[in-house]
Amino acid sequence: MCTKALVQLHIGQAGVQMANACWELYCLEHGITSHGCSYCNDSNDFCTFFEAGRGSKVVPRTVLVDTEPTVIDEIRGGAYRFLFSPDTMITGKTDAASNFAKGYYLLGNEMIDITMDTIRKVVEKAPSLQGFLLFHSIGGGTGSGFGTKVLEYLDRDYGKRTKMEFVVFPSPKISPLIVEPYNAILATHSSMEYVDCSILMDNEACYEVCDTQLHVEYPTYTNLNRIIAQVVATITTPLRFEGAVNIGFSELQTNLVPYPRIHFPLATYAPLLSMKRSGYENSTTHQLTFQCFEPANQLVKCNPASGKYMSCVLLYRGDVTPLDINNAIQDIKSKKSILFVDWSPTGFKTGLNYQPPACVPGGDLAPSHRAVCMLSNSTSIRRAFSRIVYKFDNIMSKRGFVHHFVGAGLEEGVLTEARDDICALVSDYKEIEQDESEE
Ligand code: GDP
Repeated sequence: MCTKALVQLHIGQAGVQMANACWELYCLEHGITSHGCSYCNDSNDFCTFFEAGRGSKVVPRTVLVDTEPTVIDEIRGGAYRFLFSPDTMITGKTDAASNFAKGYYLLGNEMIDITMDTIRKVVEKAPSLQGFLLFHSIGGGTGSGFGTKVLEYLDRDYGKRTKMEFVVFPSPKISPLIVEPYNAILATHSSMEYVDCSILMDNEACYEVCDTQLHVEYPTYTNLNRIIAQVVATITTPLRFEGAVNIGFSELQTNLVPYPRIHFPLATYAPLLSMKRSGYENSTTHQLTFQCFEPANQLVKCNPASGKYMSCVLLYRGDVTPLDINNAIQDIKSKKSILFVDWSPTGFKTGLNYQPPACVPGGDLAPSHRAVCMLSNSTSIRRAFSRIVYKFDNIMSKRGFVHHFVGAGLEEGVLTEARDDICALVSDYKEIEQDESEE
C-alpha cells in the first residue's frame, strides 16, 4: 500500500510545459512507457507519483489546467497522450492576457470549481496524501492569477497538507512581458500564506546553464524545462525510492523554512555535464558538493556570496557514500567564503539515495553515476525580490497598465499593498542576515 502519495498540479503555459519534461523523466525513472505501462512489476516505487490502474497501466497523480487550449492540446495529440487521464486535463477558451487579475478573478471564478473537483477526485485515489507540488510561472496571467486561486482553495480544502511550488520567476534582464513585475508581485503577495515552500527558478539562469555548461546552441523552453525536471526529480527522489538516508516532505520543510514567510530556497544542481563531455568527466562527491555553491549551477540569478545561508539541504543520489558526504561537508564548513547567519552556524542536512539520475535520450545532460541537488535558504534571494520591486516601481511611477488590472476586477490599492508586502519580505531577509554584533 502506498503511504506517500503526492499530487502535482501544472497551471498555465509554463506549468503545463514543465509537465512534459517532468513526466517524461519520471516515466524513465520508474520504468513506465509513454502509454503508461509499467515494466517494473517488482516494486511499487512509482506509487508516490502514479496511481495503479488496470493490468500494468499506471496513471499520473496530476491535474493540468490552462485557461486556453493550445498547450494542453499539444499533449492531447502528442507522444504522451495515453499517459495522462483525459479527465485530468482542463482547458478554458481564452487566455488570461498576461494579467494576474484576469487569471484570478474573471477566468479564475469560472474555472475553479471544475479544477477543485478534479483535484478532489485525484486525491481520493491517493491513499495517504503527503501534499501537493504546484508548477507555474508567475510572470504571465494564468500561472500567477489562477495559480494563486488554486493555492488559496487548496489551503481551504487540504489545509494541513504540505504545499510546495516550483515557480518560473521573472528574470533580471530577459523579460518577454512588460507587466511581469505586477503579476509576480501580486502572485507572491497573495499566495504567501498558502504555500509552505517556493522554489524559484528564472529563465535567464536556466539559459546560462544551457549555454555555458551544456553547450546548447539555441536553447528552447524544452531544454530549460528538462533541467528543471532533473532538479525536481532529485528533490523528490527520497519521496519515491527507498534510500540510505531519506528526507521526507515535511522534514525538508522543517529544515529549510525557519519562519513561515522565509520560504524561498535556492536550488542548485550538479553535475551539469554536457553530452559533449560525457565519458570524459566523472565528478567526485567532493567536487559535486562544491559545485552546489557555485552561482553558475543555480537556477535563479542571485549571488549567494552577497548574503548568508540559514540552512542547506543536500540531496545526493547514485554512487555516493556517507563518508564521502561527511568529508565534503567538513571541507565546505571550513571555507571562509561560505557564510552562515550566526544563529545557525552549521545548518547542513543531507539525504542519500542510491537511485542514480536517469538520462533523457536526446537530452542535453549527460548520464552520470551520481548527482546532488542543494536547496539552501540564503538571504541573497532578497535581491531577486528587490529587483522586481524596482521594476514594479518604474512602471507604477507612471501608473502604466494599471487600468487593465482594475478593469479585470483588482482594487488598485491591492497593487501597492502587494508591493509593500514584498518590500517587507526583503527587509525580513535583511534583518535575518544581520549578526547580533552588527546590530
Ligand atoms: P500563463 O500561461 O498566462 O501563466 O503565461 P506563461 O506561463 O507563458 O508565463 C509567462 C512567463 O513564463 C514568461 O516569463 C515566459 O518566459 C515563461 N515561460 C513560458 N513558457 C515556459 C516554459 O515552458 N518554460 C519556462 N521555463 N518558462 C516558460
